[in-house]
Amino acid sequence: MRPQALFPLFAPTTSLPGVGPRIAALLEHIAGPKVVDLLWHLPTGLIDRRFAPKIAEAPEGSMATLRVSVERHHPPPPNRPRLPYKVRCSDETGTIDLVFFNARADYLKKSLPVGEVRLVSGKVEDFNGQPQMTHPDYVVAVEDAESLPRLEPVYGLTAGLTLKVLGKIMGAALARVPALAEWLDPAGVAREGWPSWREAVLALHRPEDHADLAPDRAPRRRLAYDELLASQVALALVRAHHRSLPGQPSGGDGALRAKALAALPYSLTSSQRDAVKDIAVDMAKGERMLRLLQGDVGSGKTVVAFLAMLIAVESGRQAALMAPTEILARQHMATIAPLAEALGLKLAVLTGRDKGKGRRAMIEGLARGDIPLAIGTHALFQEDVEFRDLALAVIDEQHRFGVHERLMLTAKGKGVDVLVMTATPIPRTLQLAAYGDMDVSRLTEKPAGRKPIDTRTIPIDRLEEVTAAVARALERGAKIYWVCPLVEESEAVDLAAATERHAALARRFGERVGLVHGRMKGTAKDAVMAGFAEGGIDILVATTVIEVGVDVPAATVMVVEQAERFGLAQLHQLRGRIGRSDKPSTCLLVYRGPLGETARSRLSILRETDDGFRIAEEDLRLRGSGEVLGTRQSGFPDFRLADLGRHGDLLAPARDDARLLLERDPSLATERGQAIRTLLYLFERDVAIRYLRSG
Ligand code: ADP
Ligand code: MG
Repeated sequence: MRPQALFPLFAPTTSLPGVGPRIAALLEHIAGPKVVDLLWHLPTGLIDRRFAPKIAEAPEGSMATLRVSVERHHPPPPNRPRLPYKVRCSDETGTIDLVFFNARADYLKKSLPVGEVRLVSGKVEDFNGQPQMTHPDYVVAVEDAESLPRLEPVYGLTAGLTLKVLGKIMGAALARVPALAEWLDPAGVAREGWPSWREAVLALHRPEDHADLAPDRAPRRRLAYDELLASQVALALVRAHHRSLPGQPSGGDGALRAKALAALPYSLTSSQRDAVKDIAVDMAKGERMLRLLQGDVGSGKTVVAFLAMLIAVESGRQAALMAPTEILARQHMATIAPLAEALGLKLAVLTGRDKGKGRRAMIEGLARGDIPLAIGTHALFQEDVEFRDLALAVIDEQHRFGVHERLMLTAKGKGVDVLVMTATPIPRTLQLAAYGDMDVSRLTEKPAGRKPIDTRTIPIDRLEEVTAAVARALERGAKIYWVCPLVEESEAVDLAAATERHAALARRFGERVGLVHGRMKGTAKDAVMAGFAEGGIDILVATTVIEVGVDVPAATVMVVEQAERFGLAQLHQLRGRIGRSDKPSTCLLVYRGPLGETARSRLSILRETDDGFRIAEEDLRLRGSGEVLGTRQSGFPDFRLADLGRHGDLLAPARDDARLLLERDPSLATERGQAIRTLLYLFERDVAIRYLRSG
């Protein structure tokens, strides 16, 4: 149960005065639906209204709060309503005009009555020697001076939400911030000179000068640390839970592996060999394996996975490989099926599309145990799928699956070992954030014989050159990917762009042009992919459905349209589809100028390198961690306050802190443990608390 002290923060924003459904929708857009979401919506700037000079002493361009008498109103002449409405004001040193465009005269007469004294705050301008202030931010009577903020934090806004309105709402939200028991080690807090959580939140929302907005200030670092600690404790709890369930050692005599290696037309790279060794050692242990296999696209993860699966089979047990999409599942199957056949092993394939009799036979085979290997999608953990003795679950492209789904598959066996594969090169800092203390094997080399990819950037107005290059490549017998951009707002628009490009290319190159996109039926998609891999399709126009995993070694040219719309990591993934054979490959990044600074750097990094880890680091630098990990669907932790580009140094201490904490107090029962529970709730990592009880 969520601690009572947090109730006011986890109430909807509509529980705040002045917030109805309309405003709540705007708040949800910028921050979220709950009061606590507002606390994490930090100011991005500061308006300082403390400067209160006399009119004559207010320099042009300064932000000033003036105490003035209202002298006279000058509405625009009736025949020229577009001219501004001016109100002449004065103090003992001079005069200033308050200037209003499209003014409502009655409103101005009321707020600026002639003969009265008012405080006005805004930017001082000069109009032909006459001081003026256009649309003052504040006009208040002297007795209401309190309502004029001296220091006004600036927040990210959205259409329909003004700073003034948000400022008031923020005030109400901040008034609810409770004092919570300290969850950090007091010695550490003292050493860093950090404020308490409550003081930190208040300080961040009430900056006193611009320096207070910097991410390296104590209150911000404190909150970043809190968030990282919450996430590390949560990861550690999940991991401890995983570890606490007894494993079953899978030894294996190596016979099948030896046969498989002999059947491969190539020899393993040394990092592939190391990875297989790591996995074998893990699987032979009584503890459950939880290992990440990280390798750039094309680094050869599938064969490593297959060898790991053979370890399970050698010990008389079963193994399953789960991929996030149908295409990927079939792709793995294409690699694995011939090898399995060479070894005389049966292979079940279960995707959303496999129905009826064939499916039933496979399910029965898995339940009886005479099918030792399974490949599939989410369909693998449907209720009626049972294994006689599942020893190993390999999960590909893990970031698309949630922790929950991972657990579902491992629940299909007892003490199931888990191997997670990801092609997303994750900078080391982020790896810790995303996976905590998972054991990692990295495939750092490309298989031998690969040629580097020649990457070029070309503006869209030179598309004709691109088509000509494509024509030449076709003559050489190349296969070509032509990727159309994914414009997030509308899938229909993306599709239209891809369809149009397909038509244009088909007019020129005829039947050799195929089209594949996300909305196609599985079988239709497979037919096109097969046509591209082995048949008469030489140019494959695609939306980003080909992003991950697809393996057609004969493809040596890739055109990416509107490359500037893609993220760096995404472009790298795409490009990884080519350069998979011993023939040289070319990647043409077609962009629509003019390019912004970031887009330009992104494209030039791709021209410079195809080292996925370097690209990932650059991506982090260019975008900040938020975007790299970004989208909620990615399953990566979503940090609200911690910016790993800036606070990455806090990650390792947070991990150590979490580890120590759970060593001393594994059930979070002590006073500090209780405070840590509050922290987990505060940062919505409380699903992990479940594992305290069941573990
Ligand atoms: P990943 O899944 O890591 O992107 P794949 O497992 O799909 O990479 O492998 C890409 C291609 O490289 C496949 O065609 C595979 O058969 C081949 N391959 C894998 N390992 C090697 C190796 N050691 N030497 C040569 N080719 C390899
Ligand atoms: Mg793959």
